[in-house]
Amino acid sequence: MWIRCKCGNIIHDNTDNLSYKGHIISDKEYFKLLDLLDKMIESPAKNRENLIMTYRANLSGYIKIKLIFQCSKCGRVLIEDENNRYCSFIPDEHEKIDLLDFNGNDTIDYKYKCKK
Ligand SMILES: [Zn+2]
Repeated sequence: MWIRCKCGNIIHDNTDNLSYKGHIISDKEYFKLLDLLDKMIESPAKNRENLIMTYRANLSGYIKIKLIFQCSKCGRVLIEDENNRYCSFIPDEHEKIDLLDFNGNDTIDYKYKCKK
């Protein structure tokens, strides 16, 4: 897939880990995501692998996650709408063109415990 930015640049979406692509989730969907996570964690199902596959299947079917791109040429941000088209926004007072190029922590602390 590719998208043509209004500046003429072609934005490609043909592989994983793109530095100019992201996924956005509304606040309403975010809480649905947390609820889904809670249900999976609290599930009595013993087959954890099936549980993970159920989670992934529901993630795309139950939670709406939109795509977002930033044009690396002009800095416009393009956000997917409800019809899988893109609305673009022009940067205001900056020239940052790498807003989606970041990583969080690479490890998950499974030993995290709630305070008693
Ligand atoms: Zn552009």
